[in-house]
Amino acid sequence: MNASVLEKSAVPENDKILDVRSTSCCVVGGGPGGAMLALLLARRGVDVTLLEMHKDFDRQFRGDTLHPAALEVLDQIGLAEPLHRMPHSKVTGPVLQFADGPFQPFNLARLKTRFPYVLMIPQSKFLEFIAAEAAKYPNFRLVMGAGVKKLIEEDGAIRGVRYLAPDGWHELRADLTVGADGRFSQVRQLAGITPVKTAPPMDVLWFRLPRLPHEKGMPTGVGGGIGRGRIFIVLDRADHWQAGLVFPKGQYQEVRKQGIEGVKRSIAEIEPAFAKHAKALTDWQQVSLLSVESSRCPRWHRPGLLLIGDAAHVMSPVAGVGINFAIQDAVVAANVLAGPLKAGRLAESHLAEVQRQREWPTKVIQTMQSVFQRVLIERVFSAAGPAKVPLPMRILVKIPFLRDVPGRMFAFGARRVRLMEP
Ligand SMILES: Cc1cc2nc3c(=O)[nH]c(=O)nc-3n(C[C@H](O)[C@H](O)[C@H](O)COP(=O)(O)OP(=O)(O)OC[C@H]3O[C@@H](n4cnc5c(N)ncnc54)[C@H](O)[C@@H]3O)c2cc1C
Repeated sequence: MNASVLEKSAVPENDKILDVRSTSCCVVGGGPGGAMLALLLARRGVDVTLLEMHKDFDRQFRGDTLHPAALEVLDQIGLAEPLHRMPHSKVTGPVLQFADGPFQPFNLARLKTRFPYVLMIPQSKFLEFIAAEAAKYPNFRLVMGAGVKKLIEEDGAIRGVRYLAPDGWHELRADLTVGADGRFSQVRQLAGITPVKTAPPMDVLWFRLPRLPHEKGMPTGVGGGIGRGRIFIVLDRADHWQAGLVFPKGQYQEVRKQGIEGVKRSIAEIEPAFAKHAKALTDWQQVSLLSVESSRCPRWHRPGLLLIGDAAHVMSPVAGVGINFAIQDAVVAANVLAGPLKAGRLAESHLAEVQRQREWPTKVIQTMQSVFQRVLIERVFSAAGPAKVPLPMRILVKIPFLRDVPGRMFAFGARRVRLMEP
């Protein structure tokens, strides 16, 4: 047998392996994609281990959105109602302030679904909830604080991973290893798969703004404003506002030079209603830069290995669909792989089938995102003063059979995904 370990050069060698275990499916990464896949496989009786490098699910803000597509799947497995009993808010569509008045690019309330809204729930709470559900199955195992550093390769196929936990090295052998470890995927890198990048022309500064006393307990969803070459977004997070300032790629040094006062000035100019909130910004440490990217792997699999979610494709933040896509990948992967995994007859053609079903909806949405960016965002960036809504968009939202197309795409993607269970 020809066995080898693919590893990052920074990893110390010769460390003792504390234990070697086996599972049918090793899922690397407890984000929305990995956690959902682990739960769905566990429900189908597949032996599954979820490895998450952090010690808990409470990490930096990465979106709190659960779209109608995800809610429909959760409903299929009886989890939509308990999820709705947790503290949440609902958003039917963003309202953006332009120079010529407010503009709502789409309204989910008109869609034919039991859940015509985005459920806003802190991502950490959602992940804890999914992990707790999965833990009800004896064939599910969760290891927190487990950073995967190496892939085990035998005879040209990936046969599991080595991970570093606080107590040392462990080996987990598996029929299938799923890289659900996000945009900087270590599994993808170790497997030698390189995503093709299509960088959209923007970056985002993220920061928190306080809720003012009169706003407490008053959810207002998603909003913001557009003007003077920048976009300001605010997302309601119950006890504070998550805010973002979007600006053209390449301008970070200039934005940084203007400092926190420049950020406050932009907010006050674009959305004066938030000038008071912005007074809470006093130090550059309060903001963090997200370099926006959009990419897709040409191949999502190798024998014994599959990539899903951000590891396979990073979506542009336009319309915030990354979580939805990661969950939809998980649903399709569970549909296609649960049977073969349980029967012990997984072939690479099954992994190719997951890519076949998910790649084209990803391409469609990435194309729509880049068109949207060209017609709206680049126009905003090039405007010196307050921006107006482009006429074609004003017309589109008035035509009954066309106006709900963007909303449907946002809610379900290009292909409505359902859980197929025997
Ligand atoms: C600032 C910001 C705001 C965003 N806002 C939104 C939004 O509003 N709506 C939306 O839909 N999307 C949003 N996104 C995108 C969204 O977060 C991702 O598309 C989505 O989380 C992808 O899910 P995933 O499960 O594929 O990966 P991730 O959520 O990235 O999860 C990957 C997991 O893998 C773990 N991991 C990484 N490496 C290893 C390793 N070697 N071993 C073990 N574990 C590992 C990580 O700790 C993480 O838990 C935002 C992203 C950012 C950065």
